[in-house]
Amino acid sequence: MNKRGHVMNAVLLSIGLGAVLQPTWDVATAEMIVKLSVPVTLGALMPDVDTAFGKHRKTFHNLPMLAIFMAWPLYFENLQYVWIGVATHYILDVVGSTRGIALWYPLLSQEYNLPVGIPVSSSKSDLVTVLVTGVEIAAFAGILYYVWPEAIVYGEQIATMLP
Ligand SMILES: [Zn+2]
Repeated sequence: MNKRGHVMNAVLLSIGLGAVLQPTWDVATAEMIVKLSVPVTLGALMPDVDTAFGKHRKTFHNLPMLAIFMAWPLYFENLQYVWIGVATHYILDVVGSTRGIALWYPLLSQEYNLPVGIPVSSSKSDLVTVLVTGVEIAAFAGILYYVWPEAIVYGEQIATMLP
């Protein structure tokens, strides 16, 4: 997916996640959306830096890199939520486009892909981006409310421990 697709995915995902996490439909919901949207969008733009530095779809498109972004806020106490943008970038590249990403780089250079998706240049890429984002939000809401409702309690407990 191109930058336009990744930004659209990040902004729509932030709106969806904000509404799921703070479903009061008031100022608090808007605040949650704003709080998520900037770091998530920055995270969604980060992996394609490897078009200029390193190997595209490898250097910054792998699970070790995602683990670094997930661990970063726990250790350095900044960049919270950026990992969400990195993760959704990977999902959109794997699901929404015809070329995969090297999930285990630098251990393995093989690129993994799902047999769905369309070329990045396709006129339907906006539609695919919206569909993938909708599935992401639905999956997140489903996990949070039906599969693992305790996650909300755990999340609140972790939030109180963070600075
Ligand atoms: Zn990418």
